[in-house]
Amino acid sequence: MLLSRSIALALAVASAAPVSVAAAQAASSNPTASLLADLIRVNTSNPPGNTRGIAELLAPRFKAAGFDVQIIPTPDTGKSIIIARLKGDGSKRPVLIAAHADVVGVEREKWTLDPFAGIEKDGYVYGRGAIDFKGGMAVFARAAMELAERKVPLARDVIFLAEADEEGGGGYGTAWLAKEHWPEIDAEFALNEGGWIMKGNDGHVRYVSISTADKLTIPLTITAHGTSTHSSMPRPDNAIFALARALAKLSAYETPLTITPSTRDFFMALSRTSTPPMSDYFRDVVGSDAARARRADSVVSRDPLLHALIRNTIAPVIINGGFRANVIPGSAEAMVNLRLIPGTDPAAIVRDIARVIGDTTIHLSIGSRIYEASPESPRTTDLYKALERAARATFPGAEVTPYLFQAGTDAGAWRSKGVPVYGIYPYPIDADDLTRMHGNDERVSITSLQEGTEMIYRTLVDVAGRK
Ligand SMILES: [Zn+2]
Repeated sequence: MLLSRSIALALAVASAAPVSVAAAQAASSNPTASLLADLIRVNTSNPPGNTRGIAELLAPRFKAAGFDVQIIPTPDTGKSIIIARLKGDGSKRPVLIAAHADVVGVEREKWTLDPFAGIEKDGYVYGRGAIDFKGGMAVFARAAMELAERKVPLARDVIFLAEADEEGGGGYGTAWLAKEHWPEIDAEFALNEGGWIMKGNDGHVRYVSISTADKLTIPLTITAHGTSTHSSMPRPDNAIFALARALAKLSAYETPLTITPSTRDFFMALSRTSTPPMSDYFRDVVGSDAARARRADSVVSRDPLLHALIRNTIAPVIINGGFRANVIPGSAEAMVNLRLIPGTDPAAIVRDIARVIGDTTIHLSIGSRIYEASPESPRTTDLYKALERAARATFPGAEVTPYLFQAGTDAGAWRSKGVPVYGIYPYPIDADDLTRMHGNDERVSITSLQEGTEMIYRTLVDVAGRK
């Protein structure tokens, strides 16, 4: 997630008193919050991303609730995957709810409390993964367990999955799982992380965005070549200078607006929940008047998240070149992370980049990617409609809109096989909560966990319950 730097800085100077472990261990009265605290206490920072503890924690609870439970080991003994299936009558194909069990690491010294203690404080659960995505895992698991506890008759199986290696760094993510264990995770459609339940300044939910597609991540390597020689005799064909010139041109380049139907709907929802002039900019940026769209783009794109939703993005991430102080290297390279709107031809954007650089001695090469681009998941399925209805019932007055997720998730394992996947972080959050995701003092409110569990429970009853 890309977040406002000013908010991050404001947070960095704010501090709270450390909380004792005794307080952390106090059980919550809310079952979702209590489960989340337990999940946070299993440190699954990736790397190494040891998720076996999550499978071992959840297995007895799902078994006790009447689920068929399977723990799938991976060749990495630290990493296990858990699948818990609540059986329906088989008249409809299963619905899958998936949550990654690994989390990103922490900068421990920047936290004001223990990121792996599962601390409840002032109405929040704190800890790494509170939002991304152990909070979602707790909500999905509790909603599914409630189906069992209330003995809701089911027309289809409800499959809960806690997968590994979503946050990078390992090879046992959903691509591996789909290759080795497809029958266990095959479903008519699936729910994963993705869109937001966003609160406004007044604390009310403004909109619920349900992601129907992710951007496609593609690594691009830009290589400049020159004569490798003694640094006392520099030549005009210096590889590092050539690479720097290429990157300077790229830094001044902005990709054109590329608006998908979901993005158009999302910005119209933003427009309806905003006041002028922003409401006009949100409408204009996805409108057909090119001049107005350009003007709106210049304002809307000051927000890095919104900027990324309406275009392909180009971000240099690693530079390599040279190895000794007295040697001019024969080559220098930059690794660039491309994030493409679904439907973009990767070869076309590479041609654009080559044109912008305008130097035929610079070599461009696209790296391999885990998934091919998959089409947007349709809004006509029973799952999408159930999510829409549940969102409207749980958050009256909120706009409900599809959404193109600006980053990537592990949903490609299903979408690439034609299984629709919808994404949501299932709890109302505000901009402050969002800043802490992948950051410091990550947290989610207990009320939000409760409301999210209610929304997902309603969704599952609607989509899987026998009518
Ligand atoms: Zn995540």
